[in-house]
Amino acid sequence: MTLFSFLNKFTSRCRFQTVLTGILIGDACGSPYEGRMVTGNAIGPYTDDTEQALGIANWLASGDHSLKNLKVQLQGVFSGPQRGYGAGQADFLQDKPTRKDSFGNGAAMRVACIGCYGKDAAQVIKLATLQCQLTHKHPEAVAGAVTIALAVFLAKQGKSLDSLPKLYLQALMPEAGRKYNCSLQAVESVPPAMQAVIDGKNFESTLNKALAYGNDTDTIAAMACAIAAMKYGIPKQRLKKVLAAHKDNQKLYRVICRYR
Ligand SMILES: [Mg+2]
Repeated sequence: MTLFSFLNKFTSRCRFQTVLTGILIGDACGSPYEGRMVTGNAIGPYTDDTEQALGIANWLASGDHSLKNLKVQLQGVFSGPQRGYGAGQADFLQDKPTRKDSFGNGAAMRVACIGCYGKDAAQVIKLATLQCQLTHKHPEAVAGAVTIALAVFLAKQGKSLDSLPKLYLQALMPEAGRKYNCSLQAVESVPPAMQAVIDGKNFESTLNKALAYGNDTDTIAAMACAIAAMKYGIPKQRLKKVLAAHKDNQKLYRVICRYR
């Protein structure tokens, strides 16, 4: 390994820590309100969003970007269906038969670290699409995952979301004035997450705007906060609150911090 490639790996690992911490915060602040249209300031345990995003980080860091290894890595972080997993994803992780063409937001919620890892937009799109193949081959799910990964990639470079290639993302960018039902469908939850990033002025306001959408609150907030973390960094006070609220949040954060 050359010094350059070592430093490069080191830098991308640090960014994994930032993005994963953003996801943990969004997830834990949204989980008390999952499936509800009311939101507030309660903080809950992390859910499938954080766990599966960590699986993607481990997959990227392992250097083996095969689908076989992806399944191993996603299974490696799976602590059980009670962690807010959808039935299809839980079956997949437990080696039960399940369809591979979900149009849900499961691939978009776990994808963010690919935006840190990719050296250019083409690699980000390639890896974001590849990781959909196991479970989320539906075009809407793929577009959702590519949208989130590219948004993180642009945030890493300090670029605005206006630079998103519209050719790929038209279907999943927020439409002016449209009311999304914020369900677990990618096409109904990625646009509000993107809108929260567009409307947010800093990490806190992005988080609050994402939470205000309700319904699949944890996932919308996790996706928005992944991008906001890369854009603004992590506010220490918020992280402190999230870690103080639950022991299992603290435990997972220690795992995330291995990406130093
Ligand atoms: Mg969840």
